Amino acid sequence: MAIIQLKKIKKIYQQGELQIEVLKGVDLQVEKGDFLAIMGASGSGKSTLLYIIGCLESPTSGSYHFAGSEISKLDDDSLSKIRNERLGFIFQSFYLIPYLTLFENVLVPTIYSKKKLDFKKRAKDLLTRVGLQERLSFLPSELSGGQKQRTAIVRSLINSPDIVLADEPTGQLDSKSAAQVMEILATLNEQGKTIILVTHDETTASYAKKRVIMKDGLIYPA
Ligand code: ADP
Ligand code: MG
Repeated sequence: MAIIQLKKIKKIYQQGELQIEVLKGVDLQVEKGDFLAIMGASGSGKSTLLYIIGCLESPTSGSYHFAGSEISKLDDDSLSKIRNERLGFIFQSFYLIPYLTLFENVLVPTIYSKKKLDFKKRAKDLLTRVGLQERLSFLPSELSGGQKQRTAIVRSLINSPDIVLADEPTGQLDSKSAAQVMEILATLNEQGKTIILVTHDETTASYAKKRVIMKDGLIYPA
């Protein structure tokens, strides 16, 4: 069964007098284990769609089933639980907290988690897997872009989510760091993690196993 099923999802933004229909009835299905890239030009609505998938925004209309539940019928607590425990997020600009060390940053999402995991051990193991075991006490300002994004990947995984959502994860990286980050995501996918990636970059998208294109508010096969 699909873990994510979107049907006729519309999103309309009100800008003053103007109504902008960014998503015009998107149908999308994501299966467990998928590695999907949503491509498309800047302004085509990729982030809007990813934020809806991540329950950070709600659609204007349409239905969204996550693991069998209709999202619009869930209360705030259930939604927070999905965001916190079942989804991991990676953003173009990292969003690390500047005054926390790398180790403290990756533990931030565990504050609200009800999962019973040895988070500190998980943090160390995951940071080792992305090659940052020597830098646990560094501040974000002491890390390169690639190191920041690898930290953000660990933070996205710390609560052991079902799905990782990445919005232009290589957008601020040089090509070597971008390749490292994408290889980490590809390895995670090989180990079973479901990944949805948004990017306008062909090379970044080439790591995904499935690709679709957003155009004029709708999704097309790539
Ligand atoms: P992409 O990620 O593909 O660049 P976005 O989803 O960020 O595209 O934006 C799609 C369109 O929706 C753009 O025209 C943008 O200006 C508009 N938009 C996005 N967020 C808002 C908002 N909060 N209010 C009004 N318009 C928005
Ligand atoms: Mg975007």
